[in-house]
Amino acid sequence: MSASVLNEVLECGQLPSLPSVAVRLLDLTSDADANINEIAKVVRQDQALSAKVLRTVNSSFYGLSQPCGSIDRALMFLGLATVKSLVLGFSLVESTKSVEDGDGFDLQAHWRRSIHGASAAREIAMRSNLCDPDEAFTGGLFQDVGMLAMFVALGERYAAVLAEVGDRVSELCKCEHKSLGTNHAIVGAALGAKWKLPEDICDAIKLHHRGEKGAGQSRGLVRAVALGRMAGEALAPGATPTRLREFADTHKEWCGDGLNQQELLETIDESSRTLAKMFDVEMGETANVRRIMSQASERSLELQVETQRRADELAQQARTDGLTGLANRKSFDDDLAAAFESSEGRRGEAGETLSVVFFDADKFKSVNDTHGHAAGDAVLVELARRASDTVGDRGRVYRYGGEEFVVLLPGVVIADAQAVAEAMRVAIERDEFDLSGVEGAPDRLRVTVSLGVSSTQAGPLARLNAPDKIVQEADEAVYQAKRGGRNRVCVHGLDATDGEAGDTGTAAPIAAGEGAETTPLILLVEDDALAATLMKTILPRRGLVRVDWIASGDEASARLGEIAAGRAPAPNLVVADINIPGCSGLELLDLIHGNETLRAIPVVMITASSDESDETACRERGAAAFVRKDDLCTDLPRWVAQLISTAQGEKAAA
Ligand code: GH3
Ligand code: MG
Ligand code: MG
Repeated sequence: MSASVLNEVLECGQLPSLPSVAVRLLDLTSDADANINEIAKVVRQDQALSAKVLRTVNSSFYGLSQPCGSIDRALMFLGLATVKSLVLGFSLVESTKSVEDGDGFDLQAHWRRSIHGASAAREIAMRSNLCDPDEAFTGGLFQDVGMLAMFVALGERYAAVLAEVGDRVSELCKCEHKSLGTNHAIVGAALGAKWKLPEDICDAIKLHHRGEKGAGQSRGLVRAVALGRMAGEALAPGATPTRLREFADTHKEWCGDGLNQQELLETIDESSRTLAKMFDVEMGETANVRRIMSQASERSLELQVETQRRADELAQQARTDGLTGLANRKSFDDDLAAAFESSEGRRGEAGETLSVVFFDADKFKSVNDTHGHAAGDAVLVELARRASDTVGDRGRVYRYGGEEFVVLLPGVVIADAQAVAEAMRVAIERDEFDLSGVEGAPDRLRVTVSLGVSSTQAGPLARLNAPDKIVQEADEAVYQAKRGGRNRVCVHGLDATDGEAGDTGTAAPIAAGEGAETTPLILLVEDDALAATLMKTILPRRGLVRVDWIASGDEASARLGEIAAGRAPAPNLVVADINIPGCSGLELLDLIHGNETLRAIPVVMITASSDESDETACRERGAAAFVRKDDLCTDLPRWVAQLISTAQGEKAAA
C-alpha cells in the first residue's frame, strides 16, 4: 500500500513544481566547481525573485551591517549557500501558492511550522555548529512539504487523517502510516529527490520526526532540522510545557548544556515574523514565550514534587512489610545500627540502654497446614496489630521474616523490656484470634508466641560491640522459651552471672510453667484485684521476678502445704495482705514460721488500715517487713529487692 500511495502522490498532476530558476540553480550548484557569475546570472533573470532575495538579505533576518544592493554582492557577502536557500525558499512558497486553504488543511499552521522550523533550525545550527545554517534553513522550510503534497494529491483522504490526529502532533507520522501506508516525511523526501534537492536535505526531511536515527553523514543537519521542528512545536499556539521540555531535553542531549531557552525561543519567534513577512505568508498567532516558560517551570516544579513524592513512597515501600504493614527486616537492621551508633561510647548511662524483644509464633506451621495459608496470613496480621498496640510509643515492632517479629525498645531497661514482652504474650494469648473472615478457617483460634528479651544492660558491655550480638541473644532467648514449653518470655543471660565477655550465657524462662526455677518467685496473697494488679506491675520492674498471685487465704494455706511437701516450687518471698477472707494474713505468717521447710521464707505483710497494732502484731510474729498500701509503689519494691538479694546471698554463702 505504501508504494501505491507514495506513487499516487508523486505522480499527481496538480503537485506543485519548482520554478525553472530554482531547477537551474539546483543543477548548477550540484557541480562542485559552480561558477558564481553564472549562478548570479540565473537568479537575476527572475527579477521578481531577485528583488525578494535582496529584500530578505537586507532584512533584520540576516542582520548585515551594510546594505547589499545586488545579487552578485549578496553572493559575495553571504555566500552561495544563503542565496540558494533563499531562492529555494521563495520557489517553494511560489510553487505552493496555488494550494488553497481547503477543507481540512490549515495552511496558516503549515506556514507557521515551516517558517518556525526554518528559522529555528538555522539559529540552532549557527549556535551549535551542528551543520551549515543555510542547509538547516532549507531543510526546516521544506520539512513538511510532504503534508502539502499529500493534501493536494489525496484531498479528503488526507484531511481525515489530519482530523483524527488533531493536536496530537507527535502521533502524526504513526497515524499517516496506519491509514495510508506512508507518511509526510517519506513523501517530502521523495518529492525533494524528484526536485533534485541535495541528498542531505532530503535526508533531513525524511528524518525530521525521528531525529538522528538512520541518519548517516547528514546527522548534524538532521539534528538541526529535528530540533527546529521541536522548537516550532513549542512555539505553536496552545503548546503544552511538555513540548518545551522535549525540545530542551533533546537540545541538551545533542548540543550540551548552556541553553538559554527563553532567549533562543524569543529570537526564533522574532526572526520567524520577519521571514514570514519577506515570504509573504501568514503564520498567524504564535505562543507567548514568557508564558510557556513560566508554565514549563511550574510544571517542572510539579514534576519534581511528584518525583520526590514517588521516590519517598518507593523508599517507604522498600522498608515496609506488605502483609502486616509493619516496618520490615531492612528497617530493623538500619534502625538498630543507628541506635547503636548514637549510643556508642555512652552505653550504660541512663537513657542509653537499648532492649530488644524477639518473638516467634508457636507451632505456626500447623496453622498453615491445618487451616490454610490465608488463615496463617490473617494470624500474622493480627499478631502484628496486638504487638504494636501493646508496645505503643515505647518502641517499634518489625516483621523480621516469616512468623518472626522483633521489637526495638530504645532507652528501655531490661526489666521494663521483660514487662513489655510479658504484656505482648498476654495480649496475644488472652483472647482467641477472630478468623471468621477467612474461608475454611475456624471462627476463633488460640495463638501463642514465644518471646526472648535481650538488652545492652544484660551482661558485660564489651560483648556488645556489634548490633548483631543483641539480636543473636534475643533469638537464643526465644529458642530457650521454645524449649521451655513455648508461650513464655525468656530473658537472655539472666542467670549467666559468671559468663565471660563474648559468652552468650543462657536464658531463663520467666512465665509460669515448668523449668522456671532460676527467676526469683514471689507468692502474692491478696484478695483485692486492683492492689494485686498494681503489685504485679511494679514488682517485676525493680528486679527480674515472677509473681504468683493467689486471691484467697484458704487457697494460700493449701499452697503452702504443697510447698512444704515439695510438690510446688518454693517462693523466694511471700507478700501477704493482713485482711483476706478465709485464712488471714497473720495466720499464714504463723503457718510459715511454724513449718521447718517454710521458715526461711521472708514474709512482707501489707495492710490497708492505719491501725498501729497491726504493725506490732506482724513484727511480733516475725514478718520481715510491714508496708501500708499507700506506700506500695515506694516501699514495697525496695523491701522486695532487699529481701530477695539477702536471701540469695545467704543461699550462695550456704
Ligand atoms: P515453632 O513453634 O517451633 O516456631 O514452630 P513453627 O511451626 O512456628 O515453626 P516453623 O519455622 O517450622 O514454621 C514456620 C512456618 O511459617 C513455615 C512457613 O510456611 C510459615 N510462614 C512463613 N511466612 C509466612 C507467611 O507470610 N504467611 C504464612 N501464611 N505462613 C508463613
Ligand atoms: Mg514459629
Ligand atoms: Mg520460625
